[in-house]
Amino acid sequence: MTNLHPYRGRFAPSPTGPLHFGSLVTALASYLEAKSQNGQWLIRIEDLDPLREPAEATGQILTSLDAHGLFPSEPVQFQSRHHEAYHAAIEHLLNKGYAYCCSCSRKQLQANFGRHPQLCRDNHTARDKPFAIRFALNDDQCRWHDQLLGPQHQVVQAEIDDPVLLRKEGFFAYQLAVVADDIAQGITHVVRGSDLLDMTAQQLQIYHALEATPPHWLHIPVIVNSQGQKLSKQSHAPALDNQTPTANLFAALNALNQQPPPSLQAGSVEYLLEWACIHWKHQGANLTSQ
Ligand SMILES: [Zn+2]
Repeated sequence: MTNLHPYRGRFAPSPTGPLHFGSLVTALASYLEAKSQNGQWLIRIEDLDPLREPAEATGQILTSLDAHGLFPSEPVQFQSRHHEAYHAAIEHLLNKGYAYCCSCSRKQLQANFGRHPQLCRDNHTARDKPFAIRFALNDDQCRWHDQLLGPQHQVVQAEIDDPVLLRKEGFFAYQLAVVADDIAQGITHVVRGSDLLDMTAQQLQIYHALEATPPHWLHIPVIVNSQGQKLSKQSHAPALDNQTPTANLFAALNALNQQPPPSLQAGSVEYLLEWACIHWKHQGANLTSQ
């Protein structure tokens, strides 16, 4: 493979709680995919919503990643420090007609089958009450290629699917921040959980509106618990034990169907990661959840 376009990947957790096994699997997959292509791997903390984020969670996540030998190529970035860039992106989108103000409540939208009763998209939103800013999607039969899942087809419905960019409460929304940051950081490849697969077609339109080249995407299956729920703070996933990083990474390699030899469990974190980089396979691998 030529390296004309250097690989830049990232792991971008929301600090809603300590790192759990599902996040470790995603972090490890993105790390191995980047390192196996001599790429750079970055960490970005997606701390957009202080109401859902315990103050200690960011430190816990970074400590866990350190304990597991997953060190970023550049200093860790924080979305909470990028507000100016998000404002600029929203200004650009508003000026170009790609975004609009919307004071509709969820209830109003539901009652109106997802359409805006106030004709928000035509700039009829009264600004005297709290409003969100939404992205104005085009109707689209979106086709794109996932590096693991292959050809994808997603239907995008204008107005009905329009994602929020800036919430009524004043917080920036995921769909804006993730695209703006991936552009600003020059991210070329995104490896993430398949729970975010449905976001991709909308994000492609936001990339286009911001006149940027979208990354390649690779979606891995999310890790579920015995009840079939995604491991998350909501499903009470336990925090990783930082005292057993080799065992945790070995289990994560198994979840990623890398078939690590049992002898790796007795070695160091560094040795395990080195083996995993050399042997990393995503093409055709049947990535499984536990
Ligand atoms: Zn509206």
